[in-house]
Amino acid sequence: MKKFSTLFILVLALILVLAAPSFAQKRIKDLKFHNMQDYAWMRLAQIVPAVTDRVILPIGTVESHGVCAIGTDNVIPLNTAELIWDKCNALIAPAVNHGVTGASISQFPGSITIRPEIFEDYIYDVLKDLVRTGFRNILIVNGHGGNTDPVKKAMSRLHQETAAHFMIVDWWTVAFNIVNEVYGAKAQQSGHGDMEEAALVMGFNPDLIDKEMYEKLGKDNVSRAGTDAGVAMMPAWATSRLPETGAGYLNFDLAKAKAYAQKKADFIADTFLEAVKRWEMMESWKKGK
Ligand SMILES: [Zn+2]
Repeated sequence: MKKFSTLFILVLALILVLAAPSFAQKRIKDLKFHNMQDYAWMRLAQIVPAVTDRVILPIGTVESHGVCAIGTDNVIPLNTAELIWDKCNALIAPAVNHGVTGASISQFPGSITIRPEIFEDYIYDVLKDLVRTGFRNILIVNGHGGNTDPVKKAMSRLHQETAAHFMIVDWWTVAFNIVNEVYGAKAQQSGHGDMEEAALVMGFNPDLIDKEMYEKLGKDNVSRAGTDAGVAMMPAWATSRLPETGAGYLNFDLAKAKAYAQKKADFIADTFLEAVKRWEMMESWKKGK
């Protein structure tokens, strides 16, 4: 009898070992948190790189955006990261919420700007420590145009120094044909505080668009269009910019906004996953596999 029960326990233990996926086979969705900062450091050390070596860094800025929240450029990357971390099997790093806001809207209430050279070094330091933590594949979801060049410089420096893999995505530039699919509107590069940017904010929280102000001030008075070529103004006429005259007016259809946000996010995730696949292929060729 004793012999039987020992055997039974051994068999049971074997079944349990085989049934339970090893830690390395787990995905982020099987763990307690997907935000990196929610873990204790010793727990994080078990997860990176064993469960994932991928991280999403949302970056933005605080600046006026017509009737959209002044945090629009932070809300969008964070919302996008929340929509794609599972698909990407990536953790989300604490966001960088202060960026390089342009001078022409710097005097409007709430705008905060970091000088580009300071921002480049700041991002460099953030990325450097993500690499030191064990991340090899880093996706930066960017919500603001002024950030792009300083981040590219920081990425280039760090890629050459560490050979880690980086991608920055400016959401408003990629896949702008999605606006056609969802809204039936002419596909064109987005403006600032326009229909597409407002859609991404609404997809996250509709209260962050001030509909009452939009109706009170009138769509043409909260935006400008066609003033860019050959004209520079400080301060700007308005704190939002439409892609062209008559285009880019806000649409308050929440279902469409959510669909637009999801499609944009999926495109960004797919692009990152394809890049990771190719980066890893290149690494294995280097190792002669
Ligand atoms: Zn913006």
